[in-house]
Amino acid sequence: MKLLLSLVLTCSCSRPAGPVLLAELDAPVASAFADLVPAIRDAAVEANDASSDAAAALSMVQRSGWRASPAIPSRMKPNPLKPRLLTIHHSAARNRPGQDDGQVLAGIQAYQVQVKHWGDLAYHYFVGPSGALYEGRSLRYAADTTTHYDPTGHITVCVLGNFEEEEPTRPAKKALVELVVALLQKHGLSSADVRLHREVAQTLCPGKTLREWWRGPSGPKVGERVRGPRLLLP
Ligand SMILES: [Zn+2]
Repeated sequence: MKLLLSLVLTCSCSRPAGPVLLAELDAPVASAFADLVPAIRDAAVEANDASSDAAAALSMVQRSGWRASPAIPSRMKPNPLKPRLLTIHHSAARNRPGQDDGQVLAGIQAYQVQVKHWGDLAYHYFVGPSGALYEGRSLRYAADTTTHYDPTGHITVCVLGNFEEEEPTRPAKKALVELVVALLQKHGLSSADVRLHREVAQTLCPGKTLREWWRGPSGPKVGERVRGPRLLLP
C-alpha cells in the first residue's frame, strides 16, 4: 500500500436497424427482404465492430457501482461550464491480475481525500485494464494535482496502471479512445485539445508505453473518430 500511495502521490497527476415494417411491403418483396435481414444484421454488427459508422452508447460504472464515498464539495474548485482541454493520466500503480478495479478506485479516493485532503479522487474518469469505464470526480469540479499546471477547465481521464512499467491492455486502449472521442464530441472539443499530462507539466505521467502508443504512428486516429459517428456517454 505504501508503494501504491507513493506512486499515486508522484502522479496525482446495435445500433438497432431502423424500423422496417414488412407488413407494408408486397408479399414477394417482403419475403425477399426477410431473407436478406440476417445478412443485413450481420453487416451492421461487423460495421459496429469496426467502429466505422454506427453511433453507440458507452457503458460506464457509476460511483455507486464502485462504492465511492461521498465527495466533499467545499474542498474543490468549480470547473467552467465549457471545458478547454482533456488530459490523459495514469494511476502510476501497476495493475494486478484479477484486480477489483472498484477497490483500486476506493483506495485512490481514500488516499487523496484522507491524506491529501482533496474533496474527492483527483480525476473525472477512469479506465480499467478490462476496458471498463468508471465515473470519478464530477466534472462540475476541477481536477486536483500535485504537479505544476492548472487543471481548471480540464477533463481528466486516468488509465489504471503504471505505463512506465507495463503496457496498456488492448481493451483499455480501445476504451480510452472511445471515452476520449465521446468526451470531445460532447463538449465540442477536437483532437487538438487532448494533452498527455507530461505535455502540460513536469511528470512522467501517463507513462512511456501509453505515450509511445498514443503519439506514435499506430496511435489512435482520434481526429477522424471525433468527426465520425457520435459515441454517447451514459
Ligand atoms: Zn497525471
